[in-house]
Amino acid sequence: MNVWRRLSGQRRALALAGAGALVAGGLVTIPVTAAQAATQCEIGYTTNDWAGGFTASITVKNLGDPVNGWTLGWTFPNSSQRVQQGWSAQFSQSGSQVTARSMSYNGTLAAGASANIGFNGAWSGSNPKPTSFTLNGVVCNGGTTPTSAPPTSAPPTSAPPTSAPPTSAPPTSAPPTSTPPGVKVDNPYVGVPGYVNPEWKAKANAEPGGSRVSNNPTAVWLDRIAAINGTPDSSSNGAFGVREHLDEALRQGAGYIQFVIYNLPGRDCSALSSNGELGPDELPKYKAEYIDPIAAIQGDAKYRNLRIVNIIEIDSLPNIVTNTSGQPGGTVMCDTVKANGAYVNGVGYALAKLGALGNVYNYIDAGHHGWLGWDSNFGPSAEILKTAAVASGSTVNNVHGFITNTANYSALQEPYFKVTDNVNGQTVRQSKWVDWNFYVDELSFAQAFRTKLVSLGFNSNIGMLIDTSRNGWGGSARPTGPGAMTSVDTYVNGGRIDRRAHLGNWCNQAGAGLGERPRANPAAGIDAYVWVKPPGESDGSSKEIPNNEGKGFDRMCDPTYGGNARNGNNPSGALGDAPISGAWFSAQFQELMRNAYPAL
Ligand code: BGC
Repeated sequence: MNVWRRLSGQRRALALAGAGALVAGGLVTIPVTAAQAATQCEIGYTTNDWAGGFTASITVKNLGDPVNGWTLGWTFPNSSQRVQQGWSAQFSQSGSQVTARSMSYNGTLAAGASANIGFNGAWSGSNPKPTSFTLNGVVCNGGTTPTSAPPTSAPPTSAPPTSAPPTSAPPTSAPPTSTPPGVKVDNPYVGVPGYVNPEWKAKANAEPGGSRVSNNPTAVWLDRIAAINGTPDSSSNGAFGVREHLDEALRQGAGYIQFVIYNLPGRDCSALSSNGELGPDELPKYKAEYIDPIAAIQGDAKYRNLRIVNIIEIDSLPNIVTNTSGQPGGTVMCDTVKANGAYVNGVGYALAKLGALGNVYNYIDAGHHGWLGWDSNFGPSAEILKTAAVASGSTVNNVHGFITNTANYSALQEPYFKVTDNVNGQTVRQSKWVDWNFYVDELSFAQAFRTKLVSLGFNSNIGMLIDTSRNGWGGSARPTGPGAMTSVDTYVNGGRIDRRAHLGNWCNQAGAGLGERPRANPAAGIDAYVWVKPPGESDGSSKEIPNNEGKGFDRMCDPTYGGNARNGNNPSGALGDAPISGAWFSAQFQELMRNAYPAL
């Protein structure tokens, strides 16, 4: 993940680098002499490296008096190095400093006894070995004369590394998870091609000019239980189920594939166009008939070399913060799923089940700036994401990151005004468009939200995704410079590239274009720009269309609708003649291509 690197001077000089260290192949052996003569030890640290990842095996050998509970610490020499998944110790990392605490079953070490621990990690640039360790807080190689001669050419304490990346269980006493342990890289989007969904590609290719974009990776939406095995009869997805997509990904030689986990009980509680099949009390069914079978397929060892990205439950958690009754436009369904824990526990369960798989990466949906950018929504949404991340037996370690702007239209960046701008002494935050929001675009929001999430206890190397499938806002209506400085409103409205009537408009927006093409590591803290909403698939029908897919009619998709409290009573801005959500909407696809930014 492209984390913000704060080099706060914490990277202490490794004064004793090299002293007494034997570097041979992938092994460094450090004789440790603690200040208290009673705690001496020797650390063997071997790694098995490949591009971007490695497995480390560490032997902690007690050369002193018996210890009862131990903590091993070290500093990675390279700021990109990360512990991702450890075993036989409790690992934590802050900046480049790593701590590994003994478990109940290996904390007691008699004189001469060893414990073996390990972890899967990530690196970029280089993967040098740590040159110094601490044991129970005592700096290794601390300069105290050892009571027994340190081994200056000790043999490796464990087997030298083999060349192949580990796809089978690492050699330890208690590996942490089920099949397969896999290797989680820091950013699953880096260095590998994404899966191109052939079902979406065929629809895009059938459009004039569609082949210009049809080779982009888009996400596969698992929008009902039947989608796990394929839904040839649905208006959105096709005959491919999860297995067929994964097999096809292998055939394509793809490095990553993206699924959207989207079937919570009482789904889409604040809108109607994507209400799902499960009632608000069907959490047991969600677990047993939806998440469990997906996990079983994704966990098949056949797919262990694919990086499987799961986008977890669009709009769900923010909805129970901002759209419960008593709030403008709030709904009783949002009250229900908040009160019965369906969303929080469903998300927690999905995270725990899927996150246990070594090659699976969970990114939870985190709304967008035009929804959560106010302090009253920002903090509470981050809190509920944390609550869900540790619900149903999950931990924050099951969360690789978050995604913003999924299926929405918020501009990635507003080039012609900033939130800090003033006009005639008035802040642009006072303009009708910004309406006191603290963010005016998605990139600044995603980066700030990431920082907030880390402050609440998410891992410091989480990364954000931004759905740029439909936030291009190019074409002839795109402003080419700032608006007139007459008032905050002329300035903002004249300069903003997001041409919606209101930031709360979300359905089939007229004037939108394809945004940035999917790519990895585009900005600090951002793992990738992605196309999660497959361009050309409708957000909802513009009038009621009977169907057997549970898709309702939401007036926010009706171009004649004058709006409600949640969009400031503005026109919906939706295109007319739209089919039900998920179904192909040719006119929209054509418009998205016309207004693409960058242009096609
Ligand atoms: C629909 C899904 C569809 C997805 C992607 C959602 O709004 O409810 O059925 O798969 O959009 O287009």
